[in-house]
Amino acid sequence: MKKGIAILGATGSIGTQALEIVAAFPNDFSLELISGHSNAKLLLKLINLYQPKQVVITDSEAFSQLSKSSIPTQTKLFFGEKQMLELIKKESIKMIINALVGISGLNPLIQSLKVKKQVLLANKESIVIAGEQLIPLAEENGVQIIPIDSEHSAIFQCLVGEQQSTVSKVILTASGGPFLNFRKEQIKNSEMKEVLNHPIWNMGQKISVDSASLMNKGLEVIEARWLFKLQPNQIEVLIHPQSFIHSLVQFTDGSIKAQMSLPDMHIAINYALHYPHRNTSKYANFSLTDFPTLTFQQVDREKFRNLALAFKAMEKGGNMPAILNAANEIGVKAFLAKKWPFYRIPELVEEMMQTQTFISSPVIETYFETTEKCFESSEAYIRKHL
Ligand code: NAD
Ligand code: MG
Repeated sequence: MKKGIAILGATGSIGTQALEIVAAFPNDFSLELISGHSNAKLLLKLINLYQPKQVVITDSEAFSQLSKSSIPTQTKLFFGEKQMLELIKKESIKMIINALVGISGLNPLIQSLKVKKQVLLANKESIVIAGEQLIPLAEENGVQIIPIDSEHSAIFQCLVGEQQSTVSKVILTASGGPFLNFRKEQIKNSEMKEVLNHPIWNMGQKISVDSASLMNKGLEVIEARWLFKLQPNQIEVLIHPQSFIHSLVQFTDGSIKAQMSLPDMHIAINYALHYPHRNTSKYANFSLTDFPTLTFQQVDREKFRNLALAFKAMEKGGNMPAILNAANEIGVKAFLAKKWPFYRIPELVEEMMQTQTFISSPVIETYFETTEKCFESSEAYIRKHL
């Protein structure tokens, strides 16, 4: 039986890779729904290439552009997040890949869990913001969240067949990004293209900025806390510049399991799509003798202040991770618009963590309110302090 699949954020880096894999297994999957935001041109190309049954576009300008184009007659076009949330409910959709970026992934994730669809999750921000409420929601609805983020896919794979009580800690690996060997002063003078030029991965713009500042690793630490039900002191980060070991789990008997592969997101996406089976894929080739040297080092948390802030937010709990995430989203957006320097993103995040209202026991609505308020305050801070 073919599995009906929806890919949210199909025009993105993860979305386009997911489309490729889904199309490579036409006997396993049927493409029911894809979404895109502002890139109407690419969305049109993907519609023609992959012939999804339904398409939802969430940016109004791009929608009007796309509705003037001729799209295949069998494809139905819809507009807006509200429609997306309705379409997710459809009986024909069994599995949802959430490859949206930032808080735009949160509402669709909540809806996917409520209507009991299997979730393949790339969108880490939603779990960072609201994991404390979303994991119980997934459990209540009998939904398993299968991670796509490579570190979490690695941990997930290491945990297959293991018991939660025997996990002593997880170690997330980090490549260190483009500034691993820069001094703090050098980072100050870095240009946009250096920030976006990740040494290992080719990704969307936001995650590329987050990887350069190590906020990505900070978000992943919080994501791991909720996905794998860990205490903050069970999570460590190690720099591993070769990026072959995607993460490790240490067990109470002293054993460590690691998952290794070439750094290629297709592998994690393909694993999630076929879980619990391992299939044969063309992305598999990896030889240890080709890469005999694997190195590890501690992160300089003074240089990469965002990582220290993310640990702080995780330890504080409540709505603090939502504050961290919202301030960072605005900082990244302002940086990409050339309205805020890269090296001052941690300053903005720290300021918001100190000044926004802390709520220790949030409900789902709290996360949206916190984010909205923190977006406004972050924008005001940028206007005042640039
Ligand atoms: P991207 O920027 O390439 O794509 C984002 C997608 O979200 C696009 O389809 C875009 O149209 C859509 N989108 C953007 N703003 C939107 C909005 N306001 N409303 C609705 N849709 C919107 O991002 P990406 O690199 O593919 O990353 C997607 C998610 O996966 C992020 O959370 C990222 O952290 C995570 N992730 C990415 C990678 C990677 O290799 N790219 C690896 C691990 C995790
Ligand atoms: Mg990752």
